Amino acid sequence: MADLPHVSNWVNGAYTSPTTERIPVINPANEAPIATIDATPRETVDNIISDSLLTFRDGPWSQADASDRFAVLSKAAVLLRSRIPEFVELETRQTGRPVREMRAQLARVPEWLEYFASLARVHEGRVTPFKGPVVNTLTRLPLGVVAQITPYNHPLLIATKKIGAALAAGNVVIVKPSELAPLSVLRLGPLFKEAGLPDGVLQIICGYGRETGKFLCENSHLAKIDLTGGLATYKAIAPSAAENMIPITAELGGKAPVCLFPSLDVEQAVKAALFASFIASGQTCVTGSRLLVHADIYDRFVNLLERRVKALRLGDPTNDRTQIGAVISKAAVERCSAFVARAVKEGGRIICGGNPTNLDGKGFFFEPTIIETHPDSDLSCNEVFGPVIALLKCESEDHIISIANGTSFALGASVWTNDFNQAHRVAAKMEAGIVWINGHHLNDPSSPWGGFKESGVGKENGQEAYESYTKVKSTVINHGVPPNWFDDEPEKARYG
Ligand code: NAD
Repeated sequence: MADLPHVSNWVNGAYTSPTTERIPVINPANEAPIATIDATPRETVDNIISDSLLTFRDGPWSQADASDRFAVLSKAAVLLRSRIPEFVELETRQTGRPVREMRAQLARVPEWLEYFASLARVHEGRVTPFKGPVVNTLTRLPLGVVAQITPYNHPLLIATKKIGAALAAGNVVIVKPSELAPLSVLRLGPLFKEAGLPDGVLQIICGYGRETGKFLCENSHLAKIDLTGGLATYKAIAPSAAENMIPITAELGGKAPVCLFPSLDVEQAVKAALFASFIASGQTCVTGSRLLVHADIYDRFVNLLERRVKALRLGDPTNDRTQIGAVISKAAVERCSAFVARAVKEGGRIICGGNPTNLDGKGFFFEPTIIETHPDSDLSCNEVFGPVIALLKCESEDHIISIANGTSFALGASVWTNDFNQAHRVAAKMEAGIVWINGHHLNDPSSPWGGFKESGVGKENGQEAYESYTKVKSTVINHGVPPNWFDDEPEKARYG
């Protein structure tokens, strides 16, 4: 490990000296170590938060003009766009996702900075219709020092979404990226500095979740926690947020249904399923992990789906032709295998895939897998976060709707039909934070993103995300209500 490059935390505008303990970051496609990162201990975390609080109070950013925040975030977007190729290379190496996916995804990431820059510039307060000779203004203030805990599957996209919203609103941000894929996020430090962000306003600290992440969330000086991760992580963090009386945004797991109706051309239905299910080897929170197929097209659909899945090109993520890359770790491969074994035990029929695989004996890969099963099975109800997909034959529109709404998750759902009325009817009944009609995975900085039920609380993206990084201050300006309540014989006394 000694000769590996080490990337330290980014704190107060510079990379710090390395911590004693270091964590290796592994390329999941060939198991080669890429670099080491810090394992930040509690004392260091606490010191960084204290520094961050001073920076917030000093106000180089929290009290900056909205037009200055606009300028810095816009410049950061320009810089990021000019460096996309190097971020693509790094993101591919640390996640094992195919380079064609990373090119498409990262090309759009600067839009998040542009969007939140614009919001900072144009967002306006309000004047309420307060009764009487009183003017009541509502202004939005930044919260303070906010913690952002991010996952490994879309490292740069998710961190940028959160950083953009929080910085636009004037907060000091401490990001803890996933220890499995932190390297692209660590590169944002110097990029924001170059864009003109004052030192200490964006801090990026690394470590294991159960240590560094926990230390961060437990600190009583935080003003908000924003997590994207699993339900267990939310449950570990939420008590600290409650104890410190701070808000929490949680973007958690999903079990997105892909509802396929008979008016669809079967070829289109299969293309929809492939796209929904196998991007990022199924490692997205909105992976179309349940294919709910109407009986009228089921047999033809399954036939073609099997052929198309078997033809997917799994391989070296750096190869332009590769369509399916690695999963993140050995543990992820084992989780996929365990899901397959349980599905078979519960009577599931493997249509294709079902096995771990590798490239010349190396790498964490799992075959794209489709298993015909029933709605109550473990595979139909629980998140795999890998390329193991439940296939369910449904008898009617109502049957599809009831299965779609039948899990504890409610993040994304897609409805595929050429029947206009059916599209609206079904979409209206979907219990999900995001419903796509004839689409899946579609995302935009302006479009609120977040789930219902056990998929989370709060939203990323949109004005909702920006506002969630602010607190509303109500200023009540009296220009005519006399303070006469305790006069001997007050006229038209008013106290409220
Ligand atoms: P994870 O919960 O294991 O880790 C997420 C982050 O939390 C990491 O940075 C980790 O170090 C940290 N963490 C772990 N335990 C912690 C603790 N006790 N205290 C503080 N921090 C802790 O999730 P993951 O495996 O990286 O990502 C997969 C999960 O994320 C899936 O459930 C997926 O659905 C979800 N996800 C949701 C969205 C969304 O937008 N809703 C997007 C992407 C991923």
